[in-house]
Amino acid sequence: MDAALNDCLRHYELTLRGRFAAVTDVLRTLSNLQHERDFAQQAQALALERLGFELPADWLASAWVQGVDMSAMYAHCLFATIAASVDHAGIDQACWQPRMTLQSVHWHALGFHTIDISPCADGRLQGLLPFVLRTAPAPFVWVKAYAGALFDVEHDVADWTQRELERLTGAIEGGDRLDYLKVAAYHYSSSAPCDQGCAAHGSHDAAAVAAAIERLHALQVAVDNTYGHGAAPQVLLLGVDTDCDAIRIHLPDASGQLRAERYLDSAALYRATLGLSADAAQQALDAALQRYATELGGAALYHLPHGLLGLAQAWLVGNFSQLDYVQQHHGGRYAVIGHDEAFVCAGEAVPSLQLRNQFYFAHLDTVEEGAADLDVGARIFQGLNVQRGLPLPLLVHFTYSARVPGSRERAVARGLRVAQAARERFAHLAERGLLHCRVAVSERHSGQRLEWADAPAATVAGH
Ligand SMILES: [Zn+2]
Repeated sequence: MDAALNDCLRHYELTLRGRFAAVTDVLRTLSNLQHERDFAQQAQALALERLGFELPADWLASAWVQGVDMSAMYAHCLFATIAASVDHAGIDQACWQPRMTLQSVHWHALGFHTIDISPCADGRLQGLLPFVLRTAPAPFVWVKAYAGALFDVEHDVADWTQRELERLTGAIEGGDRLDYLKVAAYHYSSSAPCDQGCAAHGSHDAAAVAAAIERLHALQVAVDNTYGHGAAPQVLLLGVDTDCDAIRIHLPDASGQLRAERYLDSAALYRATLGLSADAAQQALDAALQRYATELGGAALYHLPHGLLGLAQAWLVGNFSQLDYVQQHHGGRYAVIGHDEAFVCAGEAVPSLQLRNQFYFAHLDTVEEGAADLDVGARIFQGLNVQRGLPLPLLVHFTYSARVPGSRERAVARGLRVAQAARERFAHLAERGLLHCRVAVSERHSGQRLEWADAPAATVAGH
């Protein structure tokens, strides 16, 4: 177990969660103070101290007449906290990033130039890279989340083609012996399989696994049929138990097929190696990996510590530390095994927030296309927020490339369009001041600062 890394991650988790929890805390206090004579000064001082930013002065000035619009203030503070967390991501993550089990340098040794991961968009998988897999973010490690891990095959063929062009033109160092790896990550709940599994598959685990395997094979067939047999990327299927962050790793068998029932189970391996010396544990893990490769009929194909089996080994070792982490800080199983997100993000995810249940994510270009995902998000927040009188905070976020003329303008226009469509779709909430929606864009290659692309929430919400 990597105790130093676990300490860094714990600090990160508490920092990020604390920042969002402070919003509710501060607003509770404001609610009690709002009729005091020096309310505006008290409120500003409290906000600066606890939240790190000031509140809109005109909202406070008129508080003594009709009270503060707490719903609008809550949304304002939440969006400001999101932006602050994105700004602070570099500092927040400075401790754990260099300590991750899997760093950029390891990928080339394993034999991969690009790792393209599509987890389910479920909020419980947002800590996938740093927590569950102990993998450092890198420019060529992509996380593209989709409901049910059902990634877009055409988009992926385009992404693969771009990297293949870079590989063939020598833009990827050592590219002649490196592969592209596509990973799909489904999820399940070991303690409440029928309720807390993947909503996109009706909590039906077998359906989630089968659908992910079908997509991975479809991508391989698509590339082979388009660019010639043998061109296809390598594939790996990953399962995450969202109760405790244990993983299942499915590798292709000798015929290239992924099998639903054949996987390495980190929870079982963790239990089997518990109490062993580091050397003995390492030997037991290696033996289990070799047995698995033989079982797949691929013993000759898989050579530790390289390739898919080497990656499986690295991810399992990293995941053991996460199982320790959940054991130590969450009693072996998260207290909230279901949804507990702070806000909804529609469009493209905010990659600098990497923590379980930070936001519910609906991957979309238009509201029509992502309607089902957004409806699920709205339903979740009905329970989390609306019933308590708190609004549904909806961040619409798209990225743009400064290298492409007009890209920012198009991202802003798309964001405003999605926000408008969301207000129409959830008019019943918007009319009661229970939907607060803001649009932000960020530059893809330069540090991911959020740039607000619309008027502040209160104006938008019609106050
Ligand atoms: Zn899911």
